[in-house]
Amino acid sequence: MTTTTVSPVLLLTAVVRRVERLSPSFVRIRFGGSGFEHVGPEGPTLDQRIKLLIPAPGRPAPSALLHPEGWYAAWLALPEADRGHLRTYTARAVEGEGDDRHLVVDFVLHGHGPRDAAGAAAGPAGTWAAGAAVGDEIGLLAPRRGQERAFGGIEFDPGTARRLVLVADETALPALASIVESLPAGTRGVAVVEVPDATDFLDVRFPPGIERHWIARGTRPRGEQTLALLRACLGLQPDERAVADVAGLGPGVDLDEDVWETPVHSSSGAEITTVSSAPVRADVRETYAWVAGDSDTVKACRRLLVGEGGMDRPQVAFMGYWKQGRAS
Ligand SMILES: Cc1cc2nc3c(=O)[nH]c(=O)nc-3n(C[C@H](O)[C@H](O)[C@H](O)COP(=O)(O)OP(=O)(O)OC[C@H]3O[C@@H](n4cnc5c(N)ncnc54)[C@H](O)[C@@H]3O)c2cc1C
Repeated sequence: MTTTTVSPVLLLTAVVRRVERLSPSFVRIRFGGSGFEHVGPEGPTLDQRIKLLIPAPGRPAPSALLHPEGWYAAWLALPEADRGHLRTYTARAVEGEGDDRHLVVDFVLHGHGPRDAAGAAAGPAGTWAAGAAVGDEIGLLAPRRGQERAFGGIEFDPGTARRLVLVADETALPALASIVESLPAGTRGVAVVEVPDATDFLDVRFPPGIERHWIARGTRPRGEQTLALLRACLGLQPDERAVADVAGLGPGVDLDEDVWETPVHSSSGAEITTVSSAPVRADVRETYAWVAGDSDTVKACRRLLVGEGGMDRPQVAFMGYWKQGRAS
């Protein structure tokens, strides 16, 4: 008897079906196309990550040249003119059935927003999204429906925690939004979301027990207000130090450049063990923290929560989604 195994990785050409400008900094794009009836995840998308293959200008989506098995090596082997750019995004939602099944992605238009000066940091993905029109095509790597576990890419895992601390910048807002919209009505906790402008406070359905804090960054340094608010939420004394200074300080194992530390994985290779022996409040012991956004702010939040806040590393997920001055 022979059995055929189907790859949990779905490699598709994603066709833009709808473009919706949500706010000055965000555009929502609905993708569909051949094979989309198989796109997962089934159920809440949470922080499900996906990969987008952004075509080089004037070239077709490179997905047609690849196969799900060994796609990365094959993609790297493509001539540079055909390769385009590989970027990580979040499945904000997967909707519909059959030919009407769509994947929803919310793109930050960094470098293209009204507050961005000419020459502000832009990249191929944000630039593509800023100009996307119905019918445009890109490559997509997403979980096959029903095989999400084998594909991986969902980090949110609060276990039996009784209180949540959720922190996001604009790039992690799609994930945070999807997470909070999936939570049971009785969930307790706090959500801190920092976006470029008050007009970017998107329509997100929070459960009533989640205390929500929207922060408009404006001209203030990235992450500054997030850290101050987090300190206040944890009952800690104010601290005037800059985010970059806090990020480089403090106890615990240093995170590497990529800042990815969850209860089951650390990008620094450090062992995830319980490190705090200090007495901490019961509500801290029962808390799970999910923090995602720019690497410096994420690092600084980690210093705060695991250092002064007294949380243990198995209670936290810290994820640098991008780094200032560095292409992904
Ligand atoms: C798991 C995961 C999920 C993500 N989900 C989303 C999502 O749903 N939506 C989303 O918009 N992004 C998301 N991101 C972030 C996204 O991958 C990065 O912002 C990425 O750098 C964008 O690619 P790019 O080609 O536009 O810019 P790049 O070529 O990677 O970078 C070019 C320049 O722009 C800067 N830059 C990159 N992003 C920003 C930004 N947001 N603001 C200001 N400067 C920036 C870089 O530092 C660099 O200097 C996610 C990242 C990860 C790891």
